[in-house]
Amino acid sequence: MKLVTRAQLGWPASAAPTQTTAKGVKVHYEGSPVSTKLLTDHNACIAEWKNIRASHLANKAENYSDVAYNYAACPHGYLLEGRGLRKRTGANGNQALNQAHYAIVGLVGSSGLTKPTDAMLGAIRDGIDLLRNNGAGSEIKGHRDGYATACPGPELYAWVQKGAPRPTALQEDDPMAGMTKQDIYDAVWKTDQVAAPDTAPDRKTNVNWQPQSYIKDIGNRVRAMDARLTAQSAAITKLAQLVGSDVDTAQVVAAVEKAIADAVVKVSVDVTTENQES
Ligand SMILES: [Zn+2]
Ligand SMILES: [Zn+2]
Repeated sequence: MKLVTRAQLGWPASAAPTQTTAKGVKVHYEGSPVSTKLLTDHNACIAEWKNIRASHLANKAENYSDVAYNYAACPHGYLLEGRGLRKRTGANGNQALNQAHYAIVGLVGSSGLTKPTDAMLGAIRDGIDLLRNNGAGSEIKGHRDGYATACPGPELYAWVQKGAPRPTALQEDDPMAGMTKQDIYDAVWKTDQVAAPDTAPDRKTNVNWQPQSYIKDIGNRVRAMDARLTAQSAAITKLAQLVGSDVDTAQVVAAVEKAIADAVVKVSVDVTTENQES
C-alpha cells in the first residue's frame, strides 16, 4: 500500500467526529470534470486532493470540518489520507448514511479522466481493506446506493457491483518471455563473456571466450595430461625392468625413449588449435 498521510500533506489532525464502526465503505468519484493531466503528473494528484479539501472547507452550506472523504485514490495507486481511520465521513448524503459507511473517492470525474486505472482500483481496495481492519464491515457500495446521485460514475460503480476486486497484478516484464531452449543454450554457452585463460595463445586479442570454448580447452588439457601420464608410466616401467641389468646408460636411454614412443602412439593433444571458438 502506498499511503500518503495527512502529515505528509501538511494537514493537521482531522476535526471530524469519531466513528469507530460502520457497515462498510462507499465509493465515490469527483462528479465534475477531472484533468487527464493527473495520469502523467502525480503532483497534480496531490494538488487535486488539496483542492478538494480546500473546496470542502470553503463550503459553508455543508459546514465541513475537513475534507469529506476518509481517503482518496489517485491513478498512480496512492491512497491519499483524508479524514482517515475511525472518523465519520461527510460524503454520503446525510447523517444516517454517513454513519453507515466510510467513504473513499477515486480521482476520476464526469468528463476528462473518467476511467480509473488498475492502480487506482488497487488503491481504493487498499483503503477498503485498511478501513475493514479498523472497524468497517464488509459492505462495499457506491454513493448512489440509497442516495440520488450519479456518483461514483459508471466505471467505478460497475467495479463496485463486482465486489471491488483487486485488479490482477500487472505482469512483470519477463526477460525470459518468448525464449526458446536454443535461445537459452546460445545465451549460456555461446556468449563471449568469460575471461580467456591466462595461458590462451590469443589471450591478448581475444580476451573473452565463450563458455563452450572453456569446456573444450579443459578437455584438451586433460587429454594432454593423460598422454604425459601414459608416457611417464611407460618410462618408469622400462626403468624398473632395467634395474640390475648389465646394460650401459646409452642403452637405457634408448630403451626408455622407445618405451615412451610406443606408449604415446597417437594421442591428439593439440590444445592450441582446437579451442579457438570465440
Ligand atoms: Zn459521491
Ligand atoms: Zn497520483
